[in-house]
Amino acid sequence: MTHAEDPRLEDAKRKPVAEVLEMLRFYDLRQTPNRREMSGPCVACGSAGHSARGGPVDRFNINTDTGAFFCRKCDIRGGDVIALVREAKGLSFPDALTFLCGELLETETPEQKAAREERQRKAREKAAEDERKRKAAEASYRARAIADARRIWNAARPGHLGVVAAYLRARGIEPANLPFPLPEALRFIAQHPYMKQLERGKPSVELWRGPAMIAGVLRPEGTISAVHQTWVSPEPPHGKATITHGGEAFPAKMMRGSKKGGAIRLHTPEGAHTLVMAEGIENTLTAALAWGETLPGAAYWCGADLGNMAGKMQKVEGTRSSGLPDMEDTEAFVPPPWVKRLILVKDGDSHPATTQAKLQSCARRAMALIPGLKAEIVPAPPGFDMNDVLRGKGPVAEESETQHPEANQCK
Ligand SMILES: [Zn+2]
Repeated sequence: MTHAEDPRLEDAKRKPVAEVLEMLRFYDLRQTPNRREMSGPCVACGSAGHSARGGPVDRFNINTDTGAFFCRKCDIRGGDVIALVREAKGLSFPDALTFLCGELLETETPEQKAAREERQRKAREKAAEDERKRKAAEASYRARAIADARRIWNAARPGHLGVVAAYLRARGIEPANLPFPLPEALRFIAQHPYMKQLERGKPSVELWRGPAMIAGVLRPEGTISAVHQTWVSPEPPHGKATITHGGEAFPAKMMRGSKKGGAIRLHTPEGAHTLVMAEGIENTLTAALAWGETLPGAAYWCGADLGNMAGKMQKVEGTRSSGLPDMEDTEAFVPPPWVKRLILVKDGDSHPATTQAKLQSCARRAMALIPGLKAEIVPAPPGFDMNDVLRGKGPVAEESETQHPEANQCK
């Protein structure tokens, strides 16, 4: 009998994650707010991180719907509770099924077989119903988030009237030196509440209120679907605001809405055929400062999120991020048809290989969908946020040596 033929397989796979964690006696994992995910000390190596919100992320995470898990320390990973039991207890596949469902019956009587099949049929029905409910809840959450984003965008005022220029200057970007006027995609709100859901199922609370730069994320057809919000310190030199609550630090940047397929279109000149794109607003503008003269007539868009730029990737055995786009994903970012040259800026990042794979996925998707498009991946130019560089958080020195895009063409 192969593993796939084991009659216990389906029951084992459908065991609720919470129940399996109980069986394994792992009581220290906690629910992450907003997500169907738990994190905490690793079930195999015991390694724990710190805060999931402010500090270094927890080492071990598990998706409470699917049982997919991974540890950033010992690198155990798997897609379901069977894999979890195998990793946590060091068991073989059949032994993991025995742990979850009991001994395999040598011979199943017709009654036992009928009972098992009935149980499995009901479990499948319940899973389908749960999935339907989950999708409906997700759709309604998304609709609310997009409505919020549009409300925020409409309440925001043109960037040149407020803190935007001061903020960019504080990050090492002099707006007067940009090859274009201060982008209309960057607006501001003088007193913008920082809302955060701290506990699952509880309403969001206001942790901070102050000036914020509001960047509009446009869908391919040009409607606002999300806002990227950066809270700015009310004190000179107006860098990022320091937001703390209950002794925990919170990021000064937050997205609201649905960024899928969208981009922050910082500058799109008439007749452009080159598109420069980075994940962050500051890095995109730094690229404009550095390359404005070498790339006349280029458009500069911020992808807002590497995951959005990459889209779903094909699963390839033995790699975490294959760099190959899953072309079934119709929601990933695709450049507009006028783009003949796509330049993707690689930000300094703690996982360079993953970043590279995500950019490759973006580049390959674009080349597959836009006839005649050529894509390059280039390191971020130096200049952005020297404070972060000095603190070791910004683009690293060896990545900063390239002054302009060069031959890094993707295949
Ligand atoms: Zn571990």
